[in-house]
Amino acid sequence: MGRHLNALTLTKGKIQTKKSELHSLFVEDDSLHFDYGHCLPNSDTCSVIHGHSSRISAEVFGEVGDDGMILDFADAKSRLKDAIKTVDHKFIICKKYAKINQNECMIEFHGKKGHFRLEIPASTVYLLEKEATSENIASELAEAIMNNMPKQVTAMKLFFFEGVSKGATAFRTVS
Ligand SMILES: [Zn+2]
Repeated sequence: MGRHLNALTLTKGKIQTKKSELHSLFVEDDSLHFDYGHCLPNSDTCSVIHGHSSRISAEVFGEVGDDGMILDFADAKSRLKDAIKTVDHKFIICKKYAKINQNECMIEFHGKKGHFRLEIPASTVYLLEKEATSENIASELAEAIMNNMPKQVTAMKLFFFEGVSKGATAFRTVS
């Protein structure tokens, strides 16, 4: 990020300010939606297994190339779509509640509403290191998208909508 801020250089005792610009583009599209199921065992209302119709959008920061772009909009959209394909129509849950045995996933937890036990095909589950909150799902998607961005992209802010009017954001820079 430092290279995008005003850079101060000392030359022959004088301070010169070199200005550079910070560019970003943003991508919103109805095709960037996905459905998922989840539950949060330690939450009052969300400890019941339920689902959401979600959507993402993103602001992508980076260097503008000779073509006048950071990234083609279609290219940016395609990279966002690649990430949501991995979670679309999946049951997302923290891996501490799940045991994978070959092609089966056994999910079991004692939550606020009682004891839950669920055996589902492993291919229908997406396991997270942490609880499947909006914040953590946004973070997981942002990480995957950023890892798949070309080198001129220096940062990204991902907007994750859990339903219509609420959600979480995740900001990532190149490491
Ligand atoms: Zn929920």
